[in-house]
Amino acid sequence: TTDNLKALDQAHHFHPFTDFHDYAERGGRVFSRAEHIYIYTSDGHRMLDGMSGLWCCNLGYSQQGIVDAVTAQLQNLPYYNNFFQCSNQPAIELARALVEVTEERFNHVFFTNSGSEANDTNLRLVNRYYQLQGRPEKKLIISRNNAYHGSTIAAASLGGMKGMHEQTNGLDYVHHIDQPHWFEVAGLDETPDDFGRRVARQLEEKIDELGEANVAAFIAEPVQGAGGVIIPPDTYWPEIQRICDERDILLIADEVICGFGRTGSWFGSQTFGIRPDLMTFAKAVTNGYQPLGGVMISDKVADVLLASPGEFTHGLTYSGHPTAAAAGLATLKVLRETDIISSAAANLAPHLQSRLRELEDHPIVGQVRGRGMFAAVELVRDKSSRERLADKSAAAVFCRNTANELGLMVRQTGDAMIMAPPLVSSVAELDDLVEMLHKALDLTAKQFGA
Ligand code: PLP
Repeated sequence: TTDNLKALDQAHHFHPFTDFHDYAERGGRVFSRAEHIYIYTSDGHRMLDGMSGLWCCNLGYSQQGIVDAVTAQLQNLPYYNNFFQCSNQPAIELARALVEVTEERFNHVFFTNSGSEANDTNLRLVNRYYQLQGRPEKKLIISRNNAYHGSTIAAASLGGMKGMHEQTNGLDYVHHIDQPHWFEVAGLDETPDDFGRRVARQLEEKIDELGEANVAAFIAEPVQGAGGVIIPPDTYWPEIQRICDERDILLIADEVICGFGRTGSWFGSQTFGIRPDLMTFAKAVTNGYQPLGGVMISDKVADVLLASPGEFTHGLTYSGHPTAAAAGLATLKVLRETDIISSAAANLAPHLQSRLRELEDHPIVGQVRGRGMFAAVELVRDKSSRERLADKSAAAVFCRNTANELGLMVRQTGDAMIMAPPLVSSVAELDDLVEMLHKALDLTAKQFGA
């Protein structure tokens, strides 16, 4: 029974990112099936998945083509590794497909199981790139506050979330600059454009402070996702790109959330005009159906890595796993053979964004921001001073719990409600999402006396 499952779960399952005391009190949910954009609990409740799982099921839960491809692969070659000059057909074909859907300068792929491992891989690739050029002193990495790049020690060090840093004995060669979060970081009288330029120039200042000869790379998500769907001001990325072009450092775009259609293009880098040297992907590459991540390596980096003999002494038992690769290949087939990405960008995203912006009239909404099928709603008590409704994000937590009870799966980060619905949602389903969120906001306003 569901009660038995919950009791066993609490007894034995050490969950990621879960407050066990709160879990014991509220009881959690056990999911047993999913269809289209809906997830169903074992006791029969249906929820509209406004988060595409963990930002990965961009095509929803009913992709029979991916299921068939995985099943066939399990029957033919369930596993073999790609170390020591071995390979397999799905990994080879997926590498070629990824090269075809990314910018021309990407012609090589390194496969991992996850985004965290892919970001670890980035650090090792960057290190080897400079070592092979006889510049081993270039080893400092610049990242951003409130970024999320994963949970391994290296990825958590790259990340900039306070709570995670407190629990990580982080790498001392990683340095951070501010996030481009106008609503949170800018002064009340600073325009988004001025703020965008100012905060981007912190990269230049940090390079000068650390010494250009010592700095290896800058890593950033095109849109910070887990940090709160931080849509950078229009001035931000052009300034970052200028600095990376003028300075002798590599640019790494972490596309783990933004990749495969989330922001309205195949990759967030295209939406924001970024030209990264390395690009991290994971999540939606398999529509979340199998664990798979990796790094797209540009010719600039690959030419150095491949010029000299000798191994890149890095790899994972499941790098290029044939079954995961088959899922990736089937996912890319859907994305390439349908107009899901362009039609979500042209039809669904404008509808979602304009419906959500109507919530700016709600008494407790301070800002709605978003791009593509990606959005955040900031909760405040006072719109002009941005005073929050309650300490410790209690109002946003309440709002999220209320939305969940109403049948909507959304997340809360800080004082923001965040969402990333599947690209296969219908307009009517997006309306349902906004209406459930609206109800949750009303109940939150009432609960917190606003
Ligand atoms: N990078 C970004 C931008 C992410 O959002 C995440 C996960 O949410 C990761 C990396 C880590 O990916 P994974 O959980 O697959 O290790």
